Amino acid sequence: MKKSLYLLLMIFTVVAACKKKSQEPVEDIDPPVVSNIENVKDIKLTITYTVTSDANVPATLNDTVKKAQDLLTKVFSSKDFRDELYKRNFHDSAYSKSTSNCFNRVYGGTVVGRSIAGKAVYDNLLPNSTFSIAVNIRNNGDNTTTLGSASACGTRITTNDYWLKISEKRLAQRLARHWAHEYTHIRGYRHDTNVASSYKWGSDVNQDPAYGVGDVVGVVLDKWTAAGIIK
Ligand SMILES: [Zn+2]
Repeated sequence: MKKSLYLLLMIFTVVAACKKKSQEPVEDIDPPVVSNIENVKDIKLTITYTVTSDANVPATLNDTVKKAQDLLTKVFSSKDFRDELYKRNFHDSAYSKSTSNCFNRVYGGTVVGRSIAGKAVYDNLLPNSTFSIAVNIRNNGDNTTTLGSASACGTRITTNDYWLKISEKRLAQRLARHWAHEYTHIRGYRHDTNVASSYKWGSDVNQDPAYGVGDVVGVVLDKWTAAGIIK
């Protein structure tokens, strides 16, 4: 008898608590912005950078790099990134003449023996949850043809300073895309420069793994920007 009275009291307490919550003004509830992103990984990415003495960079660069690091961490962790990359199919830069090899060559794309599924690129790109990306920002003189570079299976990304302007729309998002592209090179994927002509695939975002990963990061960031999840 005593036990059921206690239970009744508990139910009353819960009902009272719920009622109180429902009476709270809507403005008091924080919008669950981050929970709009569904994660399939828990990536912990650190981006470190150096700036050569002759490079021209905005005074706010450090904040922009931190923001780009945060964006890339979110994208690489997300289901959106995985799902978009899984939809695609790329040429495999295993056809390069270089002998440098830092990842598993996995085939399984739709062009027999020549292409890889987006899943293979995804698996080679993010084998570890915790990793870092090292960047050197340099003055590239009058050459404004490339945002930067990285060697296949290398350790460091080079970013050219000419496009790092505060006036650049969504600079952190552009940096996130650019570093994702270069990091794909570090994970072993090349452009078709040294590939026999019969295997060349160009810079199509649906054929080249590095352009593809950069494009997928852009697609995800654009989607989140349009949804008001990020700025
Ligand atoms: Zn590239």
